[in-house]
Amino acid sequence: MSSAFDFEPKPRRASVAVDVGGVIVGGAAPVVVQSMTNTDTADIDATVAQVAALHRAGSELVRITVDRDESAAAVPNIRDRLLRLGMDVPLVGDFHYIGHKLLADHPACAEALAKYRINPGNVGFKDKKDKQFAEIIEMAIRYDKPVRIGVNWGSLDQELLTRLMDENQANGSPLTAQEVTRETIVQSALLSAELAEELGLPRNRIILSAKVSGVQDLIAVYAMLAARSDHALHLGLTEAGMGTKGIVASSASLGILMQQGIGDTIRISLTPEPGGDRTREVQVAQELLQVMGFRQFIPVVAACPGCGRTTSTVFQELAQKIQEDIRASMPVWREKYPGVEALKVAVMGCIVNGPGESKHADIGISLPGTGETPAAPVFIDGQKAMTLRGPKIAEEFQLLVADYIEK
Ligand code: SF4
Repeated sequence: MSSAFDFEPKPRRASVAVDVGGVIVGGAAPVVVQSMTNTDTADIDATVAQVAALHRAGSELVRITVDRDESAAAVPNIRDRLLRLGMDVPLVGDFHYIGHKLLADHPACAEALAKYRINPGNVGFKDKKDKQFAEIIEMAIRYDKPVRIGVNWGSLDQELLTRLMDENQANGSPLTAQEVTRETIVQSALLSAELAEELGLPRNRIILSAKVSGVQDLIAVYAMLAARSDHALHLGLTEAGMGTKGIVASSASLGILMQQGIGDTIRISLTPEPGGDRTREVQVAQELLQVMGFRQFIPVVAACPGCGRTTSTVFQELAQKIQEDIRASMPVWREKYPGVEALKVAVMGCIVNGPGESKHADIGISLPGTGETPAAPVFIDGQKAMTLRGPKIAEEFQLLVADYIEK
């Protein structure tokens, strides 16, 4: 039955699939989660450790900075060390200014990377721009690697911007300055892709991105790109910011675009708190895809927000502990029990919604609220299975969850 309201996600926009070291981006493939290290790539130990942590957390591609000879020289070693750890994670090299030179001088780096990311705004300057761009594309053809043409608002092609501003003025300024800037971003990506194809890079070796820091600008720019090309699109809000602001801004913009069927791979760029965990951006990307129903990564833990009927923080602590345990055990569980990620666990704070929500879950517990009998009924597959009592309710329920998964 069709709905009177058009709330359903739009079908995925048709895009040309790109193979990035065995991970398919675009076409009918699920939206890929990726992230980027913030270590000095020349520091092999630190970079291997961070790539491994990001990959373990669920990053299917990991980008690393390749900014000078020392980092280019480190890339093959990083790749070898990861393979020895059993991690065949495709590495993406992030190049600015001298990518053409680094790739030419370090063939082992050019070979070890699964994709090259270049920025048309700083691939070269003035008369050298096209030549250096062509040199990188020739390397990609020689090593049979895909390229992401990644335009960034902060390093926009100034020549193109000036030309489009002048044209707009000559036409009586029908566009605002913001609209001309958006158009420049889109054209920069499309013209570079056209040039890459003219140089011989096949269409299934090109991914586009156009990152800006404003939510409305990002939505507009990607909608324009999606309408004007069939290249696979990498989504990301640049300089999203720290903490909740970064998470909210990225989720709002990427969520709206994906609801429209736009986007083949996502990166959530979060500024880590000092000493913060880099893998958080992977977690947020996975959770965004999961809550929108596009992919399933870990079992859903449904927990009520708690209120004045909650006797203690036991249930909040339990919900958090269960979520953390599940996340930590997922790589093992997923391998042993395919499909375990579709599981639903409920941890509820009182009798009001506790039993109802728990019955809808695969396994759920309704903890006692204020004034209720100190007993916690556990529901398994929709049926009340037992009642837990005493000070060890949390530990016992955790064992029941693990047991349920094992079974
Ligand atoms: Fe409050 Fe109970 Fe609802 Fe949780 S289930 S929010 S404790 S009324």
